[in-house]
Amino acid sequence: MLMRAFARSFCLLLLGLAATLPVSMAQSVRSNPGIGERVMLPAAVTPDHYRIEITPDAGALTFKGSVEIDITVHQAVSHIVLNSADIVIDRAGLSEQTKVDAVNYDDKAQTATLALAQELKPGAYTLSLAYHGKIYQQASGLFALDYDTPKGKARALFTQFENSDARRFVPSWDEPARKATFELTATVPADQWAISNMPIAATDVLADNSKRVHFAVTPKMSSYLLFFGMGDFERVQRAVDGVDVGVVVKRGDTGSAAFALDAASRILPYYNAYFGTPYPLPKLDLIAAPGSSQFFGAMENWGAIFYFERALLIDPRISTERDKQNVYLTVAHEMAHQWFGDLVTMAWWDDLWLNEGFASWMENKVTDHFHPEWKIWLQALGEKQYAMQEDARDGTHPIITPINDVLQASGAFDSITYLKGAAVIRMLEAYLGEDAFRAGVRRYIHDYAYGNTVTDDLWHEMDRGSPRRITQIAHDFTLQAGVPMVSEVSARCLDGKNSVSIAQGHFAIDAESTTARAWHVPAIIAPIDGASVATVVSGAVPRDIQLAGCGAVVINAGQTGYFRSRYSNEGLAAITGGYSTLSPEDQLGVLNDRSALAQAGVEPMAALLELTKSFPVDAEPVVASALARLLRGLDRIYEGLPTQAAFRSYASGVLKPLFDRIGWNKRPNEGDNVALLRSDLIAALGDFGDPSVLAEARKRFERYLQSASSLDAGSRRAVLGVTAAHADRSTWEQLHRLAKSAATEIERRELYELLAAPESTSLVQQALELAISGEPPSTITPVMISTASTRHPKIAFDFAVAHWDTIAPHIEPATQARYVPSLLHDATDLSLIDKLDAFAERHIPPDARQDLRKAEATVRYLAEIRKDRLPEVDQWLKNQRG
Ligand SMILES: [Zn+2]
Repeated sequence: MLMRAFARSFCLLLLGLAATLPVSMAQSVRSNPGIGERVMLPAAVTPDHYRIEITPDAGALTFKGSVEIDITVHQAVSHIVLNSADIVIDRAGLSEQTKVDAVNYDDKAQTATLALAQELKPGAYTLSLAYHGKIYQQASGLFALDYDTPKGKARALFTQFENSDARRFVPSWDEPARKATFELTATVPADQWAISNMPIAATDVLADNSKRVHFAVTPKMSSYLLFFGMGDFERVQRAVDGVDVGVVVKRGDTGSAAFALDAASRILPYYNAYFGTPYPLPKLDLIAAPGSSQFFGAMENWGAIFYFERALLIDPRISTERDKQNVYLTVAHEMAHQWFGDLVTMAWWDDLWLNEGFASWMENKVTDHFHPEWKIWLQALGEKQYAMQEDARDGTHPIITPINDVLQASGAFDSITYLKGAAVIRMLEAYLGEDAFRAGVRRYIHDYAYGNTVTDDLWHEMDRGSPRRITQIAHDFTLQAGVPMVSEVSARCLDGKNSVSIAQGHFAIDAESTTARAWHVPAIIAPIDGASVATVVSGAVPRDIQLAGCGAVVINAGQTGYFRSRYSNEGLAAITGGYSTLSPEDQLGVLNDRSALAQAGVEPMAALLELTKSFPVDAEPVVASALARLLRGLDRIYEGLPTQAAFRSYASGVLKPLFDRIGWNKRPNEGDNVALLRSDLIAALGDFGDPSVLAEARKRFERYLQSASSLDAGSRRAVLGVTAAHADRSTWEQLHRLAKSAATEIERRELYELLAAPESTSLVQQALELAISGEPPSTITPVMISTASTRHPKIAFDFAVAHWDTIAPHIEPATQARYVPSLLHDATDLSLIDKLDAFAERHIPPDARQDLRKAEATVRYLAEIRKDRLPEVDQWLKNQRG
């Protein structure tokens, strides 16, 4: 789906609960009367320290546990309410004389209520519980991942608690603001590893071929950050700034761990310096697990970061330059959370963006520092583009958005929270200056370490001691949804000086989202060959800006602003004429804005197409990649129209000269991003049916079948991609054989995914049947159906709906509400909206329909482009020929 294609590193999760959550719950309180519906535990009792003992039975998928919780009673209570889901409490007791009379469960609220024999006075007590629970086979709570080894099937256990699944592991105050210290003990088979947030403090060898592993006490932290893992692991490590940094892999995979260990070892000192507060734990593990999730790649458990292995391991045989960049960014993202999220945590899920927006911004900052050649900020403009597209449509929401319960919280892990969040931080940093911004971050981390915050705490620290206040701007961009538009109303040249008149508006696509809004927009206005002017634009009344020189003017020069730029006809003509002289950032920004404005019908499609016509053949690879993806996206919307062939012929003609310049083969000393561009161009030209690209891919695939080493990793992925897209039955069977005999889990997943990528509808049907046949690993089933939905949204959607009972068990419970809507991300068929509504009536609870609204807005948007904009393209193409 698009989200996967555009977002480089969606860490995190969604998950939580299955079907329904009540709007109100008997044992809960409503805090924040202004919001009204927020469902939280009563505050009369809070936890201070947990002593947890667990004994998993991996084979039986169950575990036994016991916990002693040191609690503070703040006001007299006759009941204690805590979170508990899918857990049976076998025994409950309290220090002092009070007895627990009964345990009552509320399955919907995911709480257990302990009825006390007599009222408990304020004070400190210890609550003792013995319980047993379930080991899941999807990533929530304590879960199992099975994989193949040379010796047969193996099973490893991991935990995944964000946003609210620690309650499936231990009865607890499972809310981010209920921080406490945790002391975990696990009894595991003697030949298995046990791993947690903290180092092992002691191990007792037991008589029955098992061992009891005691972990050191954690710092004060939120329950969603607790971690436990068990399996046949190996670890590579390095001491960095006094911290034991390790990468933990399943036995045999240490050869793929070096890249991540190097990355982490360089990033840790950078963060220690940037945040001004050193990483506070004695060790930091990056743990690679086999398998995948449809919606997250990694999780920032404090000191024990979990990654699905594709997000962490680099296999020199098959990993591409793109994979390396993704791993680097994901490592950087999760490590940033060790401060933003783990050390300082949002008080409630409304402010999730404090975690995710910040980590998504920081991953770029540190990656750009160590790998400037990757031009990560330029690449991040693609993510901003994606966020702005979502933010202009129905279903968007403010960055800070009221979250009432944990089910709604899972819906908040989206492109607005991550990517708009990151883009807004980028804009604020640019406005304030790097040094002042960092000083604010340091004050914030220092003042709130081990505590919880709301967003205004961050703005307050930024404004303190800074000559420029940002709270007003920050509020405008975080408390209201939508995309501002800064328009050049007119430009007049007088005495060699340019007087540019600009005004602030609102760029929106759907009627629901077009209410005019006001922002204070920091903007940099720059003549193409003169000094720039930084200003704050607000309001619809045009304002004049004086610039030296009379050439073309770029609004949002450097592209750090989160807004669309619109030009007068003369201004646009000047920009188009001078396009090749713009910086790569401005080339990409101008291209992205034209694309959005033209597809929304605000500007003619010709304005976009003129840029493609005179596109510089030596453009920066990231900018050229964006063009290839843009044309590929339009081609998808053309699917099946009689005029598609003419468009493909034009698009091939635009891209072919770019590809001829770089060719099929990696050249010595070429930049890493050239490899990324090469694969984007091969994929696009393959889609457009370019005969020479198809023939060469065919030839290389045949050679690859003879000798796997005939292709380097980058061209291997590109060749396999084109081959799969254009596969006939016998080629598909060849790919299927490769999938079945793959040497590693990562390769197996990659190949099964490719089986669902063909253009041929009959082969895609066959792949869908294969996906649910039980042959591919369970976690790849939903991935294959998603892959099929890129080219064949209707087929994949109909299949998923028809086989929902079979597919649902392969998806984490709470992501099930998002999965079927996600299959429509490339759909243009309006009839699918009714079908999705009908599915939702049966399977998606009303308060978990954020993704449904977004998916339906996307379908309407793409359908409108197909109906209204593509004829403009057809006409323009005719004019070119005529
Ligand atoms: Zn994250």
